[in-house]
Amino acid sequence: MSEVPNKVAVTQPSNDLDAFCIILKSSKCPGILTGAGLSAASGITTYRGTNGQWLTTNPMEVASLQAFQDNPGRVWAYYHPKRDQCMEAKPNAAHYALASLSLPSIRAQIFPNLVQKDKPPLYVTQNFDGLCRRALDETLDKASSPEDQLDADERNEVHARLVEMHGSCYRFTCTQCKCVKTTAETPLAPIFTDQAAIERAKNGEERIAVEQLPRCGGPEWSGSNRYGRCGGLLRPGIVWFGEIPEGQGEITRILTKVDVLLVVGTSSLVHPAATYATTVKKNGGTVAVFNLAPSQGDDKADFVFYGPCEETVPALLERARQMVVGTE
Ligand SMILES: [Zn+2]
Repeated sequence: MSEVPNKVAVTQPSNDLDAFCIILKSSKCPGILTGAGLSAASGITTYRGTNGQWLTTNPMEVASLQAFQDNPGRVWAYYHPKRDQCMEAKPNAAHYALASLSLPSIRAQIFPNLVQKDKPPLYVTQNFDGLCRRALDETLDKASSPEDQLDADERNEVHARLVEMHGSCYRFTCTQCKCVKTTAETPLAPIFTDQAAIERAKNGEERIAVEQLPRCGGPEWSGSNRYGRCGGLLRPGIVWFGEIPEGQGEITRILTKVDVLLVVGTSSLVHPAATYATTVKKNGGTVAVFNLAPSQGDDKADFVFYGPCEETVPALLERARQMVVGTE
């Protein structure tokens, strides 16, 4: 324990829900960081869990720019079925609970002391499954109270607060003209309906010709070289190993003001959770971890709530909504 930075960290983290709710009530600028554990209940395989996909796949062979340049078909063969899995999955109760913070009526109950009352908390996710965004959209669409009816600008504001730092399975970039596309279409090329071929390509037994892979302008591309229809090879719009995560400037700018950080479904030891938590703690803020099981480094958090986050996160926010704190 030689690196204990201050007296707060010496004590064991608390699991007192009411005590944490009181801190939420006083927060001026809360922030959220979510990881793979958030989507576990939606059936998305986590990377490092017991059945983690990196146990069977070498990440460098499918999740780096070098891998894509060496054998784009193999990367696509790994990635396209994964994308289908993400699109078939549904957001769970934890996604919806966090998304409810985009509604002004809920936010006013849980965070009555926000400095920017019209802005939802900074919401950073490491997941590229698109479930955080889908939960946000569904929540905004279903909002019934008049104060929660957001106009187009306000909806954009909500979306802008969500940073998908590792990209999204709905996005693609053309390797040639660099245009960015967003689509929920599947399959992205006819080859992906041939499961046997995809399996062989994934195992490195057979190469898929570049012409058969998703291309800028779609399968009906007919020789145009215009921006967005240039026929170039598309790459998944996700951030690979060795690439710079998205939204880093925005995250850094807001993080220095964050006074309560909720770390949901990710080990608090590894980057970025560890880095964010350190920044928030340095500024005198509070860090709370919501994860299925203890992980190394949790002892540096102020609060830990173990259990499935689709239970612990909705329970926290419901409790915070009900709690009435006396005016000071
Ligand atoms: Zn292009």
